Amino acid sequence: MPKIRTTRTKKSPEGFEDIESVLDDYAKKMRDAENESHEGKRKAESLWPIMRISHTRSRYIYELYYKREAISKELYDWLLKEGYADANLIAKWKKTGYEKLCCLRCIQTKDMNYQGSTCICRVPKAQIRANTIVECVHCGLSSRMSSSLCG
Ligand SMILES: [Zn+2]
Ligand SMILES: [Zn+2]
Repeated sequence: MPKIRTTRTKKSPEGFEDIESVLDDYAKKMRDAENESHEGKRKAESLWPIMRISHTRSRYIYELYYKREAISKELYDWLLKEGYADANLIAKWKKTGYEKLCCLRCIQTKDMNYQGSTCICRVPKAQIRANTIVECVHCGLSSRMSSSLCG
């Protein structure tokens, strides 16, 4: 007779326990951001904290697997499937010239409001003047933040 699992969550792949506390932390920050008052903020701006956290979390998982090779393919795939990281964004980071992409909206030209403007994440590092902080109009990620994330 197979044992009946009492927990509702599926068993996570090996290695998950090592990063679970970090992911819990992101989940907590995400909840805080979602519960934050949106009063006095523009609609897009109220989404910025959430997009920033989701970006940072995706980046964390991306680097664990592709840069630091600290997690297995099985765990990486599982994390994507469970929604811990944005698979579409990571797919772009793997492409040359898109390593710093802050959000998918920066390459979606359908957005008429911002058509023609180039987000800082699409500008080569050499062309960014030191100490300039430019925020993405879509997600609010600043150039300084994204460049530090990229190491
Ligand atoms: Zn962005
Ligand atoms: Zn951008």
